[in-house]
Amino acid sequence: MLVRTRADLREVLDRQRGTRAVVMTMGALHEGHLDLVREARRRADHVVVTIFVNPLQFAPGEDLDAYPRDLEADLAKLAEVGADVVFAPDPETMYPNGDPRVRVEPGPLAAVLEGATRPTHFAGVLTVVLKLLHLTRPHVALFGQKDAQQLALVRAMVRDLDVDVEVVGVPIRREPDGLAMSSRNAYLSGTDRAAALALSGALDAARGAAGAGAEQVLAAARERLVAEPGVRLDYLELVDPETMEAVPADASGPALLVVAAWVGTTRLIDNTILDLWKDE
Ligand code: AMP
Repeated sequence: MLVRTRADLREVLDRQRGTRAVVMTMGALHEGHLDLVREARRRADHVVVTIFVNPLQFAPGEDLDAYPRDLEADLAKLAEVGADVVFAPDPETMYPNGDPRVRVEPGPLAAVLEGATRPTHFAGVLTVVLKLLHLTRPHVALFGQKDAQQLALVRAMVRDLDVDVEVVGVPIRREPDGLAMSSRNAYLSGTDRAAALALSGALDAARGAAGAGAEQVLAAARERLVAEPGVRLDYLELVDPETMEAVPADASGPALLVVAAWVGTTRLIDNTILDLWKDE
């Protein structure tokens, strides 16, 4: 069922009995989003999916206006995987008083990686996530590991601000050739699409080098990325999955390799968890 207003959402939710899961999206849904909905189905009696392209998390000059929107197609996909409620508010419904003056301060975790390139991004993300948690009142909220820093920040917000919800991370869904699914892949031309494979290719190469330690991991990934002239690297870092701080050269155990790069005019991100110094 599609609801567009706060009043309709409240009415539908008040009628639900049992547990509720929420999956928050910006629409232009693909199988990665649908994996979150399927996992939500397994974890709760009711599933609410939100579709909202949140202006607050886009900086001027980013792709807010160009961001793909196709509500009809999204609703058809969600009906197939069994979402009970789709909340698709317009910006005036989410922000009835204009841009909110009070926002979530995401702290130092939001200053690195994505936050270094997009300094206002995570305050916008966490503000809308907190608003949507209040509006949908779920027991469980699911987020993709594709946006690993976002997932870490949502976990930190829920912990630090005592939000009463269980946060669940869902693995990255990829195309058969390895490209991480993203609504922004729709921007890629044929040659961009081929060049974009350097990101997942770099992560594969890195996993192969995990047994040789952090420096070898980074070197293997970097080699694959610089070999692709269609890719302009933004960052490639090996970090602690919780704090997003760079791991030392002699680190062992689980680490998160994160990459962001421009392919043509499209900015893509990808990541993988790997186990340093232990052959996988
Ligand atoms: P978005 O609509 O891009 O804001 O994404 C909505 C949710 O889907 C976020 O929690 C994303 O991390 C998640 N997501 C996006 N792409 C993927 C993917 N390829 N695999 C798993 N989750 C994803």
